[in-house]
Amino acid sequence: MQIARTIDDMKAARRRMRGRVGLVPTMGYLHEGHLVLARNSNRDNKFTVASIFVNPTQFGPKEDFAKYPRDPDRDCALLEREKVDVVFMPPGEEMYPPGFNTWVDVAGVTERLEGAIRPGHFRGVATVCNKLFNIVDPHRAYFGQKDAQQVVVIKKMAKDLNMNLEIVVVPTVRENDGLAMSSRNVYLSPDQRKAAAVLHQSLSLAREMWRNGERRAERMRQAMTGLIRKEPLAGPIDYLSIADAETLEELEEVERPAVVSLAVRFGPTRLIDNITLP
Ligand code: AMP
Repeated sequence: MQIARTIDDMKAARRRMRGRVGLVPTMGYLHEGHLVLARNSNRDNKFTVASIFVNPTQFGPKEDFAKYPRDPDRDCALLEREKVDVVFMPPGEEMYPPGFNTWVDVAGVTERLEGAIRPGHFRGVATVCNKLFNIVDPHRAYFGQKDAQQVVVIKKMAKDLNMNLEIVVVPTVRENDGLAMSSRNVYLSPDQRKAAAVLHQSLSLAREMWRNGERRAERMRQAMTGLIRKEPLAGPIDYLSIADAETLEELEEVERPAVVSLAVRFGPTRLIDNITLP
């Protein structure tokens, strides 16, 4: 497995690849959710490139960029075991040299949910993904359903800008109690970690209601909110949404493909999760 730390080295490695290439963009501190993306890429392509880059431009000034968990040696060992061909691990100045001043803004869909609470977040995400796509030139790029709005934004960017790659979405990998795996779960105290299972319970409740014929989104939101409020360690709910799967506009009736998504704080830690309906 090669480790490329510069854009030139990454491009040189790419030129040597003859066959389909899959890209797995990550911010590192890898867990099983990331590794499943790599496994999917390895299955579909001859070569897999994983990137590890904690992208400063997608963090707000009061967010956790500086203390975002990092363990590049462990990450590389895990990726080597998955038979990843190249890890692209650039330092910050390599991706954003002095004078960097070009941004990708996906309008509309980025104004809601995560975008409303984290202004500029998706501008950073879209810009860095566009850069990674240009540097690695993959046939396919792999993203987790865990970040549902990110998937919608990246797909829209690729379509609107006629990018020559396929965006592949991989189902969310969960812990035994249903909590979605996340690098940020390490921030949780043992009590908060236990309490956080309520997120998946509330999403499952929405699915159960839908299966029993409920179509009124507001009823489902109310039931989910009620369940979360019963958990004393579940802090403020940033949003709880039942929205059209493509536009992320809130639904009144769940009569077309929908994403049920939420963001809830547990102390200083903010967790997100979602399911799709049907
Ligand atoms: P991150 O390192 O958090 O930026 O995540 C990198 C990629 O892994 C993104 O496409 C995420 O959606 C995906 N991912 C993160 N957690 C999970 C999970 N639990 N299941 C599936 N994919 C995930």
